[in-house]
Parts: sequence; C-alpha cells; structure tokens
Amino acid sequence: VPEFLLLTGCKQLVTLRGSAPRCGAAMRELGIIKNGALLIRDGRIAAIGSEAHVKRAARKLPPKDRKRIRELNAQGAVALPGFVDSHTHLVFPASRAEEYELRIAGATYEQIAAAGGGILSTVSKLRKASPASLRQRALASLTYMAAHGATTVEAKSGYGLDAPSELKILRLHRELAKAQPLDIVSTFLGAHVPPPEYRDCPDDYVELLCRRLIPQVATAHLAEYCDVFCDRGAFTLDQSRRILTAARACGMGLRLHAEQLTHTGAAQLALELHAASADHLEQINSDDIRALAASDVTCTLLPGCCFHLGLQHYAPARALVEAGAIVALATDFNPGTSPTLNMQMILSLACTQMRMTPAEAVAAATINAAYSLGRADRIGSLEVGKFADLALFAVEDYREIPYYFGVNHCTTTIKKGQIVWNRR
Ligand SMILES: [Zn+2]
Repeated sequence: VPEFLLLTGCKQLVTLRGSAPRCGAAMRELGIIKNGALLIRDGRIAAIGSEAHVKRAARKLPPKDRKRIRELNAQGAVALPGFVDSHTHLVFPASRAEEYELRIAGATYEQIAAAGGGILSTVSKLRKASPASLRQRALASLTYMAAHGATTVEAKSGYGLDAPSELKILRLHRELAKAQPLDIVSTFLGAHVPPPEYRDCPDDYVELLCRRLIPQVATAHLAEYCDVFCDRGAFTLDQSRRILTAARACGMGLRLHAEQLTHTGAAQLALELHAASADHLEQINSDDIRALAASDVTCTLLPGCCFHLGLQHYAPARALVEAGAIVALATDFNPGTSPTLNMQMILSLACTQMRMTPAEAVAAATINAAYSLGRADRIGSLEVGKFADLALFAVEDYREIPYYFGVNHCTTTIKKGQIVWNRR
C-alpha cells in the first residue's frame, strides 16, 4: 500500500536541483522555489514545484491513492535538503570537558595529548565501556542531530585502537543504523593515532591494520570507508599510504584527515589514491588548492574544530571555492576538538570565519557532502526520484539560518518521507 505525504506552505523550497557536485559559482545557485510544495510517495519525491503544480500532480493520482495523502503545512517555513554530516566521530564514551578548561588556561591540544589526555584518554574509557552505554549515548546524539536537521551521518571508529574495541564500535554503527531513522555511513578509522601498546613500534600497528583488521572489517562489511589521521603525533605519510592502499585493495573507499596541524603532503596523497574526501585542510598551500580544485576529491572543511580550539587559522574555503574545488562542510562531532552536532552552527562558522556565502555553505552541507559519501544520486538535493530527506526551518529566508547563530531553527525533520522530528 503506497504512502503519500503532501508538503505545502514552504516560503522557500531550497532544492539544489541540477548537477552534483556543486563547484565555483554553481554553489550559489540553490534552485529556490518560492511558495513551493512537495509530494512524497513511499519515501521518495514524486513531484516538486509550485503549490499549484504539485497539487495538480496529486489530483491526477487514482482516487484510492488520493485518499491516502496526508498533508503537512510548513506554515511559511524554509525547506532544505536534510543536512549530510559527512565527518563525525559519533561513538565515544564521555566528554572531555576537563581538557576544555585546561585549554582555556593555555595548554595546547598537543601538550594535553603528551600529558596523557586527548584521544588516548577517550580510548582507555571506550575500551572499558559497555556496548549498551555507548549505544545509549550515540542514540541520544543521533536524536539531537535529527532535531537540528541532519538526515544522514557519517560515523568513524577510532577510539578503540585494538581489534575488539574497533569492531565493537563498527558493529554499533550497524546496530544504530537499524535502531533509529537516520542513515549512518560507517568509516573505519583504526588509524586515528598509534595505540599506547605500540608507542615504540607504530609500524607494527600499521602491519596489524593492513594484514588483519582492514581485511576483517571489509569482509564483514562493517565499514564502507577507511580513514587515516595523517599528521604529527598520528601517522606519517608513508604509513598512511600503506594503510589506505591496503583498504583500497579490499574494496573500501578512502578518506583522510589531512593537513590539520602541520603540512604533511596528505592532500597530495588523497589525490594520488583517488580518495573520496580530504578533510580539515587548514594547512594547505596554493599548490594543494590548485591540485584539489582540478580533482574530484571532496574538500571537507570542519570549522567547528578551529572554533572550539580557539584557533585563528581556518581552512582557506574562499580560495578553494574560487579555484573550483568540491567543498563540503561537516561537524567533526567529537569530544576533543569539535563537540557540536549542530550543522546550523557549522554554517554560521563557515560564513563568518571562512567567508563562505550562506548559499555556498548550504550547498557544501547538503549535495557536496552527499557526493563525498557516494550518495549524490539519492540524497543531498530535492528532486523527483530522490529520497524525501528534508528539514524545515522557522525562518523567512534561508540566509537567516546561519545569520541567527547558535539556536536551533529546525522545526521538522523528514527522513525517507517519515517525520522523525517535530518541535510541536
Ligand atoms: Zn575527525
């Protein structure tokens, strides 16, 4: 029995229809329909356009289907494709609020890590945490993400750093995908930092990843992508190449934490290995920008990180957009450097700190992020045949979403045609 939902009363229906991904000036073409409407059939968009056009399409349905149409009036809200949060560390055991205070007092991220804090403090807690407690925390985060307009979330492992704990996280990704409505794209980040047991022989850990863990993860289909943190204090360029080459041989897509703290050559490695995405990119130079812009590697920028760490130097978003790179935005939700799961706040930071226009930020947070996850044919824009993944915001103009910063404008989130969040 088909299910229908007719959404009317959208003051602006921001479709992002057309080619994907969006680059350069095309990032500012959002395909906005004024007073738009949408007809959803079985979770997919069946008609979209002016209210008159969509109502006409609804009237053409057979009478038995017409009776099944539920109507939702957006009451003048702005509708966007659901946010695609394409870089998160969803599963972790506890906040690191104590470090937040240390950092405010002047300690750097690396000083905190050297003193036994940082990623490894989260690792030791996660290894001891029960799957049930991790699951409860992650479910709460996903509910909050949906309430802020996200409909698809990429999730990385990387706080386990041994076989049982990494597999515990990846299995949880699979469970979470079934237990709640948002889509979860699972990424294996066993190469987050070398684990404490391998401090003096990180190459042995790289061997373990390449020979045992990556093949095991790939065979069990526990992750679609493999990611590496290539930086000072994490993995070298050569180690990163070995890990990602092993993952590619197992059929996994590739992502990289690249050029965040220091310039390592990781952006060039992303190009060399045809990675889906190079993320962070705070330290890239003009050669990197030119090369990335000429490629189809998505540049995923994470301004929440610089904001939370109180850093002045953000990734050069303006130069990347103007060079024609595929730019995406994500929260980087994690307990150490970006404890936010609000994509609206990321849009605000992209606009004020990286000088992206509101339109560019919207394109980066939807269609381009969907592209980086290999899903631009299904999500990221509002077009006939795509999944009805969208969010309604109580503003009069889409630019007010980043403009009125730090509050949640999202009133309704729809995932595959189902209302999964409603403020009223
Ligand atoms: Zn990250």
